Amino acid sequence: MSEHILTICYLVASVTFILGLKMLSHPATARKGNLVAAAGMSVAIIGTIFLPQPDGTILHNYGWIFGGLLIGAVVGTLAAQKVKMTAMPEMVSLFNGMGGACAALISLVEFDHVSKELAADPSLDISHIQTKVLIIVLGLIIGSVSFAGSIIAWGKLNGKIKDFSFPGQNILNLVLLALALGAGAYLVIHPDHSLLFYGIFVLSLLYGVLFVMPIGGADMPVVISLLNSFTGVAAACGGFLYDNKVMLTGGILVGAAGTLLTILMCKAMNRSLKNVLIGSFGASNAAAASAGVAGHYKEVSLSDAAMLMSYANKVMVVPGYGLAVAQAQHTCHELEKILNEKGVEVKYAIHPVAGRMPGHMNVLLAEADVSYDKLLEMEEANDEFKTCDVVLVLGANDVVNPAAKTDPASPIYGMPILDVELAKNVIVNKRSMKPGYAGIENALFFQPKTSMLFGDAKKVLQELCNEIKSI
Ligand code: NDP
Repeated sequence: MSEHILTICYLVASVTFILGLKMLSHPATARKGNLVAAAGMSVAIIGTIFLPQPDGTILHNYGWIFGGLLIGAVVGTLAAQKVKMTAMPEMVSLFNGMGGACAALISLVEFDHVSKELAADPSLDISHIQTKVLIIVLGLIIGSVSFAGSIIAWGKLNGKIKDFSFPGQNILNLVLLALALGAGAYLVIHPDHSLLFYGIFVLSLLYGVLFVMPIGGADMPVVISLLNSFTGVAAACGGFLYDNKVMLTGGILVGAAGTLLTILMCKAMNRSLKNVLIGSFGASNAAAASAGVAGHYKEVSLSDAAMLMSYANKVMVVPGYGLAVAQAQHTCHELEKILNEKGVEVKYAIHPVAGRMPGHMNVLLAEADVSYDKLLEMEEANDEFKTCDVVLVLGANDVVNPAAKTDPASPIYGMPILDVELAKNVIVNKRSMKPGYAGIENALFFQPKTSMLFGDAKKVLQELCNEIKSI
């Protein structure tokens, strides 16, 4: 009877994962979706610990289990409470890497068990052992690549690790992957070659590092979502191995969602998935890309910017990473309301890779209660810019850089951008003329229609609100 209760727990958990995922697709319900899925995960964990497994066995080693849970819960809670909003993408990468590491550890432990079983009784059913080894090897390769790649991505997002590539790196990557897969296939056929297993582990870690190292410029969103899907698939391997339905469902959901996100990000960056898998795509060459951008930029005063927006019919706000740095989302919403009171229509143009994690701008603006129907996706926004009197670029840079359309040497060449220059006036708020994430100059800042409004986004927006109120 109690093993049926466990199955029901797993069913409840699986349903909450699906509902949670569905709710995550809209900013208004995302927070609740997270809680629903977390509640389901708690049910699954508590059930697994205290209820008998389908074969009637009960977990033991409670000291280790609760010790691990306690350490994980304390570290996770402190990290989530302390993390700055701008460091969230790094934390997500790190946590994703931990998921990959768990999957790889499961494989390491289980291979040891299989080896011991085989050594104790060589007459064991070989096909059963081979199936187990197949899943163990898949979990090891995918989990290790995800772990090593996510750690490199974490270092890149916080600026500690710089892009690194060398001639022939793509070929070396392919060779490493082929060696890991080939050795894995051999091991499945000959499961007693346990030394090979550790060789596959090292090859996979190396591939994970070399696969992410050269990816720079503005291509990180694709690799982040790809690593996310790897972790899901690796966890699903664990589910197969333990015949644990909820682990399998959870892993498959993460893997599928990550894969869909990867496809969306590829589309947003105009890159093919093949290039992503081989690595070193859109190789960054910031020096080459910045060549040719020169000229004078003009500044606009706060009062002139306020005047321009007050008398506009339509203002489009383009939020970028700088808005997150300044935590200016609430003040931005305040500006929207003040302009609305003056009869000015305000909308937001959201680029899919603006900020430092997929959906960053949507999350930020939802936090400030900006109405979701005011957020335009890139294609819709590009159709509307020509009807705008003013575009206010708030801490965005790469996502409005025309080099993506005009400069084949640019690391962001081919990435669709927001065509802000179609509007009558463009006001760019940032603190200096420094480049954005891709490290390249932006010709938009030197165009006749563009005026620079320097300063921290939050401070500038507060002052703009005051100015507009007094007009
Ligand atoms: P960018 O990184 O291109 O530019 C942000 C700009 O904000 C900088 O030029 C900076 O200029 C300015 N800024 C920083 N702080 C402030 C502040 N306090 N007030 C005002 N401005 C500020 O951002 P975008 O959003 O345009 O583009 C995102 C980039 O990040 C893309 O290249 C994307 O590929 C990449 N990326 C995206 C990920 C994702 O999943 N979304 C993941 C990883 C990378 P200054 O210092 O002069 O103020």
